[in-house]
Amino acid sequence: MRHVYLDNNATTPVRKEVVDAMLPYFTEDFGNASSIHYFGQRAKAALDEARAQVAGLIGAERSEIVFLSGGTEADNLALRGIAGSAAPDRRHIIVSAVEHSAILGTCRDLASQGFDVTHIPVDGEGRVDPADVQAALGPQTLLISVMHANNEIGTIQPIAEIGRIAREARVWFHSDGVQATGKIPVDVSALGVHLYSMSSHKIHGPKGVGALYVRKSTPLKSILTGGGHERNRRSGTENVAGIVGFGVAARIARATLGEEGSRLAALRDRMEAALRARIPDITINAESAARLPNTSNIMVTYAEGEGMLISLDLKGIAVSTGSACSSGSMEPSHVLTAIGKTPDEGFGSLRISFGAMTTDADVDALVAELPRIVERLRSLSPHYPVRQ
Ligand code: PLP
Repeated sequence: MRHVYLDNNATTPVRKEVVDAMLPYFTEDFGNASSIHYFGQRAKAALDEARAQVAGLIGAERSEIVFLSGGTEADNLALRGIAGSAAPDRRHIIVSAVEHSAILGTCRDLASQGFDVTHIPVDGEGRVDPADVQAALGPQTLLISVMHANNEIGTIQPIAEIGRIAREARVWFHSDGVQATGKIPVDVSALGVHLYSMSSHKIHGPKGVGALYVRKSTPLKSILTGGGHERNRRSGTENVAGIVGFGVAARIARATLGEEGSRLAALRDRMEAALRARIPDITINAESAARLPNTSNIMVTYAEGEGMLISLDLKGIAVSTGSACSSGSMEPSHVLTAIGKTPDEGFGSLRISFGAMTTDADVDALVAELPRIVERLRSLSPHYPVRQ
């Protein structure tokens, strides 16, 4: 059976060029980048190059990139690092309702330590209104954290506008850019962020590697104690091979950004039009919002997302019903709830996400199978109105 992978927001295949670039760093260039000798210097030079490549993808300076284990750690370091350096009278944090669990869970923990957390609602397309952020500000506000692009529905947030509000209010501003990096142009200066999270495995790099952009002069209390690596911002011997891979993935993402963005958006539009023509009563979530070119979230009435996912999987097609981190639980997605969907509507949703390896034939396979699957699932539903 041919296998078709349409779940690139969960993770992506590592590019061949990335694997090739990583391999020497497991064997001949295996040194510890903190060592002074030849082997250490080889590793350090590789880190420097990768730092420049990752910085280049988001318009940052090399010294502003902190390598760490991935998006989850980047989100944790941003929030906990700012919270840990806060004055006692600055204990208010503003986040959006559609953040990843790495942000929402960290906020729950900070709330248990006495921080006051405001969750900003979103509209029916998943957009934060910057005026709501402005209205939530108070004298105690320390930090605003709003994701750049949503992992489930792809909505892109008005980060530059929120950045202006944060600057005027003299409040730190973090954005989770894990899904935006490498998919849309990112310029951290234009966005006005002090902190920006990234993850290698979402851009065809290896898993377990990521980075936090930390703008110069942003106070950040380290969350790990140890050898003071990464200019005292993240202790722990650097994963040199992984970071080299992340760097190459970032370089390729930057070089192909515009072209890939247009290709994937066209592929997505074609898929959505074909599904709409073949399946009655479907809704494309966040369709009219600015959204990621690679992400489509489709809501199908009277067909369960889990049923569609399993039926597609049996045909060799991999998609997701929500964010990868929350699938497996039967809670409706907090993102779909936040955009006003009922639990039943939420359970009928599918996330289809493309990557650099996605082809026209992959989309054709989905468009051929999904309508048949939906028709069968609906025929089993006692509630689906039979059409004449
Ligand atoms: N933030 C967002 C928006 C994500 O989509 C993800 C992963 O799905 C993460 C953070 C966590 O990243 P990682 O898997 O690298 O820990």
